[in-house]
Amino acid sequence: MEAKKLIYLDNNATTPCDPRVVEAMLPYFTTHFGNAASRNHPFGWAAEEGVDYAREQVAQLIGADSKEIIFTSGATEAINLALKGAFEMYRKKGNHIITAKTEHKAVLDTCKKLETMGAEVTYLDVQPDGLIDLAQLEAAITKKTILVSIMWANNETGVIQPMAEISKICEKHGALLMSDITQAAGKVPVDVKKMGIHLAAFTAHKMYGPKGVGALFVNRIKPRVKVTAQMDGGGHERGMRSGTMNVPGIVGFGKAAELASREMQRDAERLSKLRDKLQKAFGEILEEVVVNGNQEHRMPHVTNISFKHVEGEGLMMTFNQKIALSSGSACTSASLEPSYVLVALGLGDDLAHSSLRFSLGRFTTEEDIDQTIAAVSAGVNHMRDLSPIWEMYKEGIDLSNVQWSEH
Ligand SMILES: *Cc1c(COP(=O)(O)O)cnc(C)c1O
Repeated sequence: MEAKKLIYLDNNATTPCDPRVVEAMLPYFTTHFGNAASRNHPFGWAAEEGVDYAREQVAQLIGADSKEIIFTSGATEAINLALKGAFEMYRKKGNHIITAKTEHKAVLDTCKKLETMGAEVTYLDVQPDGLIDLAQLEAAITKKTILVSIMWANNETGVIQPMAEISKICEKHGALLMSDITQAAGKVPVDVKKMGIHLAAFTAHKMYGPKGVGALFVNRIKPRVKVTAQMDGGGHERGMRSGTMNVPGIVGFGKAAELASREMQRDAERLSKLRDKLQKAFGEILEEVVVNGNQEHRMPHVTNISFKHVEGEGLMMTFNQKIALSSGSACTSASLEPSYVLVALGLGDDLAHSSLRFSLGRFTTEEDIDQTIAAVSAGVNHMRDLSPIWEMYKEGIDLSNVQWSEH
């Protein structure tokens, strides 16, 4: 029997390492294994040279200076360092932080922790298309606001926030702007300087680099931003992040950044065509299909779709032997919870539970998309054929009071 290729459409969860990245990393496990902080022998120098070069590559990707890049273990750590570090550094000025309900858990949970440490946090609602309301943002700013944290692009919907406008509002009121750029960096042009962003967190494994390495951009000039270290030790990374550097990981991150700079436009054009083909096909083949989130201000490779009256987790079971993607349900300890991001967009629990996130990537082919269209459509039809709820819907019965079985 011919081995079936697995189709991977979960690139917002993580991306495979590009083989060119792996190739760049390999010498740093063996030949150049030195500690980048060993200043007095060639092993240390070679490692440091690798890190320095990667720092340039990573900085260039986001329009930063290499001195403004602090390497971390990933975006989660970079976000923790940015939010906790800025809160500690600036809390004499004020204790108010503004973020949005659709942020990644790394931001939301860090803010929750800061609330136990004396921070006041405003969690902005979003509009039904996922964009924040700029007037609401401005109205939320007080004299005590030290930091606004808004992600560039959302991981579940791909929706891109109006960063330039957000930045203008922050500048007008003297608040620092932090952005989780994890999903945007390497996929769409990101220029933190032009955008007036002061802190930005991102990670290698969402852009074809290795897992376990990320970075925090910290603006150095106008204004000179400082964050209090959250990791104490040898004073690496200009005192902001101690710990022996993950040299192979950092070198891989650098290579991934360089490749992304060079190839992002081509990838984006190709993937947005495939994404649109997928979306259009579902609209033609199936009834009652909704795309979630703003479709104009959106990442080129992502679409989040609700297949009404079909439960997403069950739908995935019909094809998860061949296609990997994510549903709009999150497994918590006891039950399936609807995605809080989709709920914040105003989707009811049923629509949130009926959604799937398709996130394409550099290695997605047209053949993958054709097979996905066929398998997902067949799955939806199969589920609906078996579903009394679908039958009731077809008979015109009001379903607004019907409860899904998980509840
Ligand atoms: C993946 C992700 C993170 C966390 O990144 P890690 O490097 O895995 O810690 C943070 N924010 C967003 C938007 C993400 O998609």
